[in-house]
Amino acid sequence: MTAFFSGILGKAARLAMAIATLGLVGLDMQAASAAELAKDLFGNKRLPAAVAARSYGFYSKGCFSGGMAIATDGPTWQAMRLSRNRRWGHPKMIALIEKLSREATADGWPGLLIGDISQPRGGPMLTGHASHQIGLDADIWLTPMPDRRLSPTERENMSAISMVNEKTHLVIDKRWTPAHARLIERAASYPEVERILVNPGIKKKLCETVTGDRSWLRKVRPFWGHDYHFHVRIGCQAGSKGCKEQDPTPRGDGCDKSLAWWFTEEPWRPATGPAKPKARDIMTMASLPKECRAVLDAPSPVNEAAVTYHGKGGAPTAVVAAPSPEEPEVADTPIITDGGTPAAANAFAPRPSVDIPLPRPRPKTQ
Ligand SMILES: [Zn+2]
Repeated sequence: MTAFFSGILGKAARLAMAIATLGLVGLDMQAASAAELAKDLFGNKRLPAAVAARSYGFYSKGCFSGGMAIATDGPTWQAMRLSRNRRWGHPKMIALIEKLSREATADGWPGLLIGDISQPRGGPMLTGHASHQIGLDADIWLTPMPDRRLSPTERENMSAISMVNEKTHLVIDKRWTPAHARLIERAASYPEVERILVNPGIKKKLCETVTGDRSWLRKVRPFWGHDYHFHVRIGCQAGSKGCKEQDPTPRGDGCDKSLAWWFTEEPWRPATGPAKPKARDIMTMASLPKECRAVLDAPSPVNEAAVTYHGKGGAPTAVVAAPSPEEPEVADTPIITDGGTPAAANAFAPRPSVDIPLPRPRPKTQ
């Protein structure tokens, strides 16, 4: 076939696909009425919004576009609970996790077990977390990565080990190591990290044992839970005008009266009265920033591999078809990339309108 004819056929196929896509979008919009729970709409998205990376709203009430996934496996990490499909984040968050996994090996931490980051387009989740909604939060296990690949079943079922005695709220000394402290210090050392949430027992342990530079302790905040993982939160990233900043952390290292409160009875007192519904169980699209509707309706990338980050030196696992020049632009601004950010611009290419067979990553056998 000549190039001329293939060009004509390509155009016809693209047009047919564009019409089919419009039909689907119409149905999507009907289904996604404002009364529907946002957690159902966001919780069922399998892929991110293939437009520029932006966070909208707040950590506990928002969504994001341009998400990337961290690969399930890397030289210095393994992602856990794969069935949840929460390996997604703002590209800066994903890059930071990979960097932490690599640099922490110098501190004697052999690699990260990565817990939940965000859903592909963020938003409230069907289960768990109040935050993690705008791609800027990630949970890292306080269990070092084993020196073998965990099977998908192990990643679902392996229990995390709590570092804290649930009665005393103090760290269990035989489980705590200097490497745990160095890992948290490493994470806190990155300027983009604004907060790290840990169990009060862990904060207390750090307060009592860290010598030398203690300035990073300011970022480490005591919170319920977080006894088997710590939670890393980065600030709003450039290009995200709709991202709401959190309050700055108070001055000082936090090893003071505010920490002592956690070792009183008050924070652990069972709530009285009727149980309040969780925010995610009542949050509709009307509660989220209006841009989250467009995030839901935005096209998906060609496949997951196209938007998966493998870290430095990692080879891409799929070739992504670039959109043809006559197609409308999806992103309203250029995609921001710089040396440190994973996110080849073509990774955000909208789904191609011609049915091009794409190489698929080989399925994992284990
Ligand atoms: Zn978390």
